[in-house]
Amino acid sequence: PKTVTGPMIRAWIETSAEVFAANRGHLSDLDSPIGDADHGNNMNRGFNAVLEKLPEGDDIGALLKSVAMTLIAKVGGAAGPLYGTLFLEGSKPLMGKTELSQADLAQFFEDAIAGVKKRGRSDVGMKTMLDALVPASEAFQAETAQGGEILAALRAAANAAESGMKATIPMQAQRGRASYLGERSIGHQDPGATSSYLIVQALSDAVEK
Ligand code: ADP
Ligand code: MG
Ligand code: MG
Repeated sequence: PKTVTGPMIRAWIETSAEVFAANRGHLSDLDSPIGDADHGNNMNRGFNAVLEKLPEGDDIGALLKSVAMTLIAKVGGAAGPLYGTLFLEGSKPLMGKTELSQADLAQFFEDAIAGVKKRGRSDVGMKTMLDALVPASEAFQAETAQGGEILAALRAAANAAESGMKATIPMQAQRGRASYLGERSIGHQDPGATSSYLIVQALSDAVEK
């Protein structure tokens, strides 16, 4: 496709909810050695609520803002407010748009990431969701700059998110509950980087279908 449509964004949200239902145990297992074993439950509960509240229509900004507000309201802990901020900041320039250009999508990634960095006082290398999201955004832009179309850029983003997720294993956590463990956080994959990879992969999959 040359653009990302409202129905594709709706499919992304629905796919994300399915993926979090399927990966609930996996994500909570990842959160068990370096956290409080609730990340899968948080994301599954959050996206179930997102589906219940999702508005009708193809206004992409409105869809993404609804995701944000529900996650902020329904998911406690670190991930709810951070994913809420991601979708809220990303939605702002997209209000009223029913179709996104490749440039709009690049901007969405940038604004979403800037929101997480600000809210979390975090950046790449701290063993968080940003270690999947930032490489994904960079890969999207690099593929776009090389003339790749939306789907190629999204596939590149999903691959980069997966590599970024795996790269959190040797990192020492510097934010969130895992940071309380100091060096003992080394050797475990970050649950938030994992959920972020799953969300980026879900977007690529939803646009591909
Ligand atoms: P909690 O730690 O409150 O139980 P979750 O388990 O749902 O919340 O989410 C934990 C994830 O949140 C971590 O794996 C990490 O990726 C992410 N996270 C925590 N703090 C930050 C932060 N300051 N910036 C970015 N991401 C963070
Ligand atoms: Mg947790
Ligand atoms: Mg918790």
